[in-house]
Amino acid sequence: RQEQFRALRSVEPLTKDGQRISLLMNAGLLVDLPQLAESGAEGIGLFRTELQFMIASTLPKADEQETFYRNVLKQAAGRVVTFRTLDIGGDKVVPYFRGHEEENPALGWRAIRLSLDRPGLLRTQLRAMLKAAAGTELKLMVPMVTEVSEIAAVRELLQKEVQHLSRFGHGLPRKLQFGAMLEVPALLWQLDELMAAVDFVSVGSNDLFQFAMAVDRGNARVSDRFDTLGKPFLRLLRDIVRAGERNNTPVTLCGELAGKSISAMALIGIGFRSVSMSPASIGPVKAMLLGLDAAALAKVMNDALDDIHATTPIREVLAHFAETH
Ligand code: PEP
Ligand code: MG
Repeated sequence: RQEQFRALRSVEPLTKDGQRISLLMNAGLLVDLPQLAESGAEGIGLFRTELQFMIASTLPKADEQETFYRNVLKQAAGRVVTFRTLDIGGDKVVPYFRGHEEENPALGWRAIRLSLDRPGLLRTQLRAMLKAAAGTELKLMVPMVTEVSEIAAVRELLQKEVQHLSRFGHGLPRKLQFGAMLEVPALLWQLDELMAAVDFVSVGSNDLFQFAMAVDRGNARVSDRFDTLGKPFLRLLRDIVRAGERNNTPVTLCGELAGKSISAMALIGIGFRSVSMSPASIGPVKAMLLGLDAAALAKVMNDALDDIHATTPIREVLAHFAETH
């Protein structure tokens, strides 16, 4: 099968009925970059920049960050790279950057919250990205957004860095795309404001599921208790896709969900046209979608999700569809 997936690397990711699905990969270190060509991914949908910080023994200096991002972009050789700004805290521990002990780290001082409270840290990172992407495209997004106002705050810092660099004659990115990760349920009731404030949205389904279902993603006792392909979560995801369509805002999903073939199928069924996953999943997911009738699946999924009397688990609906089509 490995060989079969390899052979698919250069095949267009089109469903049987002609829907194009963007297949992107998740990464975080330079060693991941060769996987772009290996897997045939279109680009990097999630680059976890905190990994450079997590494996270092001290805070990476500004020029180290810049060199790192430059190397990532160079090795990506023109394929899109979506950098996520620092996502420290919660389950991502940076030993030399410890805040106070928290009783609920997942709900604590983390990600964009920490970044906005330590603007020097964020500005250094933004500047490093801007410099590294001079003359090319820079795509970046912020994690764990709760209120749209946080996006405006990051944009302001970004703007300051852009002005600073141009004042000192530095080259700037040719194109800048700014996005937000949708991981906190509060954003579900700010979808239109959110989409108006960004160029794209990326759903972090690992955290979004954790917060929506109130189950700790790292606690094996409960993490599998509720189905990621159950009605509540799929309806929630479908609302996000619809908001993207109504606002003309590109929406991607970059959590673990995208990498399992049956879940990827469900995501396409509810309207996702872009997903980011671990590189090893690209081949199997592409093999699945090449044989998929997306329109027929959409009908089946929407009927199942809209029927309040239906008791068949969606997972079974999906399995049945896969067998009969
Ligand atoms: C997510 O939460 O789904 C996500 C992609 O980010 P991470 O797994 O790094 O928290
Ligand atoms: Mg997350």
